[in-house]
Amino acid sequence: MKVTFPHAGQAWVPLSTVFAKAGVECIVPPPCSKRTLSLGVKYSPEWVCLPFKLNLGNFIEAMEMGADTLAYVSGPGLCRLGYYSKVAEQVLRDAGYEFRMVTFDWQEKQVLGLVEFLKTLLGDRPWHQIAGDIKFGLTQLAVMDELERQAHYLRPRAANPTEITQILRSAGQRVSKAWTDSDLKRVKSQILKEYEDVPKNPKANPMRVGLLGEFFMVIEPFVNMDIEDLLGRMGVEVVRHAFFTNWAKTWLFLEALGLSHDKKVKKAAAPYLSRDVSGDAIFTLGETILHQKDGFDGIVHLLPFTCMPEIIAQSIMPKVTKDYEIPVLSIVLDEQMGRAGFVTRIEAFVDLMQRKRRLKKAD
Ligand code: SF4
Repeated sequence: MKVTFPHAGQAWVPLSTVFAKAGVECIVPPPCSKRTLSLGVKYSPEWVCLPFKLNLGNFIEAMEMGADTLAYVSGPGLCRLGYYSKVAEQVLRDAGYEFRMVTFDWQEKQVLGLVEFLKTLLGDRPWHQIAGDIKFGLTQLAVMDELERQAHYLRPRAANPTEITQILRSAGQRVSKAWTDSDLKRVKSQILKEYEDVPKNPKANPMRVGLLGEFFMVIEPFVNMDIEDLLGRMGVEVVRHAFFTNWAKTWLFLEALGLSHDKKVKKAAAPYLSRDVSGDAIFTLGETILHQKDGFDGIVHLLPFTCMPEIIAQSIMPKVTKDYEIPVLSIVLDEQMGRAGFVTRIEAFVDLMQRKRRLKKAD
């Protein structure tokens, strides 16, 4: 068995470790690229959303490298994510690929679903070891998330923000090789020390932007043209809520215990959207309002073309921006998006925020 899974931000780090520790051969697909996207677009139904197309491209590239078992998500979600696995399986079989698909139903079964899913893939591994592997994987994720958060903070304050990006880019490989708590601690301290050694820009006075929208668009640097690095180099600190550790806390544990999550965000969004329409729409609206109250300079809202939940959020957003007077840049991403146009829009938005800040100061 050679297992693979789609790329989604840094999720490959704990997944590759869990499989490797169990002695299961794991093929991490190459990072998302133009080729991944064009393969996904070639075989996907036209109407499907962008994350699916990239996931499909990841699977094809991994099968070219020998993968024969595809690990994927399933579930009863209101949006198209609920039937991604069925569509992907059908499309790939129609294209002539032979494989086994194993799915993880995170919305219905939460952490028990994760244990069942890993048990199917890890064979006879005892339950307590699987539980230990999940715990260690979540610790690795937490380390990756913290390193990303630190990078968001430090980039706009560094003399050369690219140095921070380069350190962060090396982190996934280094963390994935740390298989014990002590190794993990050591790798994390080394990376934090490297961050600390990057010379600071004493004149830095970064603006703060909330990066919101559909989860995959926000966390996957290929699809969002590495917007965090781009904004960091423009002297903007990025703050985002979408991290796998937050996702795991909510969907693996709080929901399993029947506890409501993110009450504050939902309460903020309630005057504009009173029920969860799936995806991240309610968080996009609620977080926009909370960020404004926290004094943020603006919001970048990323959404995939044809994503129903985010289209709902986008259609409500003008009312929110009017009521709360916060600049919001909504960018619809699809396979036609070019980097030059994307960068121009971000630059214009940063100019607008700067002008707004200057005017506020002058008042
Ligand atoms: S939230 Fe939107 S982009 Fe994400 S899976 Fe659902 S429909 Fe597709």
